[in-house]
Amino acid sequence: MLRFDNPDGGVWKQGFDISYHGNEWDKEPLEVFVVPHSHNDPGWLKTFDDYYRDQTQHILNNMLLHLAQDTRRKMIWSEISYFSKWWNDIDSQKRDTVRRLLRNGQLEMATGGWVMPDEANTHYFALIDQLMEGHQWLEANLGVKPTSGWAVDPFGHSPSMAYFLKRAGLASMLIQRVHYAVKKQFATKKTLEFYWRQNWDPASSSDMMCHMMPFYSYDIPHTCGPDPSICCQFDFHRLPGGRISCPWRIPPQPITDHNIRERSLLLLDQYRKKSRLFRTGVLLVPLGDDFRWAESSEWQNQFNNYQRLFTYLNTHSELHVKAQFGTISDYFRALRNRTARTGINLPVLSGDFFTYADRDDHYWSGYYTSRPFYKRLDRLLESHLRAAEILYSLTLAEMRRAEAGGVSGYRGDFPAGEAYQLLIVARRNLGLFQHHDAVTGTSKDWVVMDYGKRLYHSILALKEVLVNSAHWLILKDKAAYRHEPSSAFLQMDEVQPSQDTLPKKTILTVGRASRMLVVYNPVSQKRSAVVSIYVDSPAVRVVSMETGQPIPAQLSAVWAEPTRMSLKAYKLSFIAEVPPLALVLYHLLHAPDKDDSTQRANYTFLARDWQESQSIDTGPFKASRLQGDEANAPLVLANAHIQTWTSPSSGLLEKMKLAGDGLERHVQVRFFWYGTSPNHDKSGAYLFLPDGEAKPYSASLPPQVRVTRGPVFSEITSCFQHFTHTLRLFHVEGLEGHSVELSNLVDIRSEVNRELVMRLVTDVASGDHFYTDLNGFQIQPRRTLAKLPLQANFYPMTTMAYVQDSNSRLTLLTGQSLGVASLKSGNLEVVLDRRLQQDDNRGLGQGVTDNKLTASCFRLLLERRRRQEKEVALVSYPSLISHASSLHLLQPLLSMAVNPASSAASLPLLPSYQPIRKALPCDLHLLNLRTIQNKEGAGPSDQSALILHRKGFDCDVLNTPAHLHCGTTHGELDLDNMFTSLSVHNLQRVTLTLMHPENESGNDAGDSDSRSHHVKLEPMEVRTIQVQIG
Ligand SMILES: [Zn+2]
Repeated sequence: MLRFDNPDGGVWKQGFDISYHGNEWDKEPLEVFVVPHSHNDPGWLKTFDDYYRDQTQHILNNMLLHLAQDTRRKMIWSEISYFSKWWNDIDSQKRDTVRRLLRNGQLEMATGGWVMPDEANTHYFALIDQLMEGHQWLEANLGVKPTSGWAVDPFGHSPSMAYFLKRAGLASMLIQRVHYAVKKQFATKKTLEFYWRQNWDPASSSDMMCHMMPFYSYDIPHTCGPDPSICCQFDFHRLPGGRISCPWRIPPQPITDHNIRERSLLLLDQYRKKSRLFRTGVLLVPLGDDFRWAESSEWQNQFNNYQRLFTYLNTHSELHVKAQFGTISDYFRALRNRTARTGINLPVLSGDFFTYADRDDHYWSGYYTSRPFYKRLDRLLESHLRAAEILYSLTLAEMRRAEAGGVSGYRGDFPAGEAYQLLIVARRNLGLFQHHDAVTGTSKDWVVMDYGKRLYHSILALKEVLVNSAHWLILKDKAAYRHEPSSAFLQMDEVQPSQDTLPKKTILTVGRASRMLVVYNPVSQKRSAVVSIYVDSPAVRVVSMETGQPIPAQLSAVWAEPTRMSLKAYKLSFIAEVPPLALVLYHLLHAPDKDDSTQRANYTFLARDWQESQSIDTGPFKASRLQGDEANAPLVLANAHIQTWTSPSSGLLEKMKLAGDGLERHVQVRFFWYGTSPNHDKSGAYLFLPDGEAKPYSASLPPQVRVTRGPVFSEITSCFQHFTHTLRLFHVEGLEGHSVELSNLVDIRSEVNRELVMRLVTDVASGDHFYTDLNGFQIQPRRTLAKLPLQANFYPMTTMAYVQDSNSRLTLLTGQSLGVASLKSGNLEVVLDRRLQQDDNRGLGQGVTDNKLTASCFRLLLERRRRQEKEVALVSYPSLISHASSLHLLQPLLSMAVNPASSAASLPLLPSYQPIRKALPCDLHLLNLRTIQNKEGAGPSDQSALILHRKGFDCDVLNTPAHLHCGTTHGELDLDNMFTSLSVHNLQRVTLTLMHPENESGNDAGDSDSRSHHVKLEPMEVRTIQVQIG
């Protein structure tokens, strides 16, 4: 076990003295690859466009010029967002030069993602999507397939990334920001180069070769060897007279005949020392920094001086060194050759590299929550993109099917090309936001706004794609489709007024004529879930268009203030039953007769002294006040599956019980504040440096508590000064009834240096163990360590966290990434928002004070376990119900209303569109059905990427699959029988981002028969299949 004691290591402050004898390289020479790189953040202190204009385009232009001058010079590039923008700006002559440099190996595309993504807050849908977007761009424009990963700046590293890169066909990868004590330990054991194994993959088919950089930073002072004061002297961009110098006060010297021997030996000493931390004599020396290589003089100074040093070193055979410029793949190739020739083995490791600390107790756990408004907006764009991609692909497939059958005029004037452009922009905006200064919340205020606008505009654009596709799919006569952007046939039910405000429900007018509502289920399993819309009249009911039968529904008030309801809107909630990937139509009918109209919720208010004088206006709803003894009894809500008890004074959860099973747990929801450290170093966008333990949230006034009871859902809303908390229970037989919804509206704009936390205090005997997900893809077991500072025990929660004991598991599912910890047995706490007045000295140069009214949504799931384990397992999985409940949060049903003003409103419609014959197995998730770009132009091709994920799940958590409407098939799927009327052609198994045909004989393609349309996935695997559907 590591001690994390941070002793002074000498010149290598966080390490130790490195020594060597000098004869270590006599047999096999030291082989040095100096890799020029420029770290280009797609937005941070400047926006993406401003960085491009001021720096990046000059870097790339100079690269062409200076690489072309000498074939020994090399360079790597990794951000395709920038590269593709530059590509659009350059002429064909420059493009030819780029192709030549790539062909002869002088230029290499590393990773090749749209950005270098954050690995903590990112969901795997977006991680894979941005990788595919970058790779597809590279293949289409340059014919290049990346082979090595390069991630020098993400704030901690996730094994999910290693898995996705491996499955994308990359052979090796590099990581850099790892806790300094872990780096030191790895250096001591010579395990800085290792095979990264997924902890769920004992078959080891996904092992990825990984290089971890040993020192503090990726800048030049920290990459040539252990002594930054010496390495800095070999950054010839810092030559005297330039704009930057060495903080260690020993400047670089230009290499001359006079000093070359002394300089070469000084640098070689650093190379040799660094090499002692690795198992082979092949050495990687990155040469670059943020936005480097922008000026011509920099290129000349670096390349000319280094080339002189290399020539000297290489011509003195007694030094046993071969030094050269190289790319990252040049390095890995030499490393592989060396290990193969010498029989040196690299170790195998599993796990993740969170939470990162770069020095002292400076743990980077603040960014797990910073700018939570945008972390939620990110998930909204993600769900809209996935839903739109799938519906659009199905629309094009239906058109192809009809046309293949000889039907003409079937497309109407459906804007397939236009919609495809909107999808591409949305993919790229979502991709851009996965950057390690974007979703992390670590950019300047105006850069955050620039990202926000991109997310916001793409959500609007995707709604357009969704309503156009849905419109076409539900038309009886497809040829009658008319594209009328000014008066769309369908309107999405939510509208976000601007990039920094929460979405608002559209109020539907229900007059004498009926309104039609289309509900889309974007997941590949059947769903029975509650849809809520706003209507302008209480006299309304819902009827299925298919059967004409009334649908169970509830009318509730819309609250303008805690005790004042809106007079303009009512909330209509009904239980929609929607087959997989289907569209189902409902009628909203005017129901003037009260007996005929929808059942109304009733309200209970808790009377407080200060509120006695306030009048409560509940319009057409029944309301009462609890007084006396009644007001002191716990508030109980129950459905067929769960019973909850909440405190009558706060309205906050106290206890949960599973109805069938009798399992009961104290689960108290509490709120706390963290302050920031009184020391010099305080919390900021990156760092969490609290002033000790959290203090209970105490309100100056007791909260206004409002209880809603109805046939479809019941809820308790508590309005505090800084947040409104709602606990909701759905009266649904299906999956939604198994968990409790918790949601918050948080506003801490009045506060100074405070962070608001929601804590679950439970009697689950979890000890110091808990579990968090990584990227929504896998679960990482965690242990809270008392020897570490409080902030070190926080971890990213992308989709869920849980605590468990021998007979129960309590899972908190989240609709947005936030920081989470379990500081005491049975506790789980989530940081909801942070407001920090100062910079935390990581280059951002500002605090986090652009807080907004921010929504966060969760589901709480209590489950019975039957496992009695003695040891804590290294691998853990959510249950099937937990997976499905997470999808309810992340991929909700989407509703759209037919616009009565549209000229097409009177055209006959189908009662539903059901593309899937049978639901996919419970554990198979359709991650995406993504239309592939046409090779010739920018439009859609007839090919799609079908991305499937077989989720690993825990069988020892008892669940009732009857409610899931699906079973499992051991990962098998017959694509020939998947669709109702569509069929699958030209199936090709490919790597994750479509770059290579999948090697059947290699890793675990399982027993898939390449001739049939039968696919099989092992648990946890994500696979891409290229198909033509039509
Ligand atoms: Zn960066």
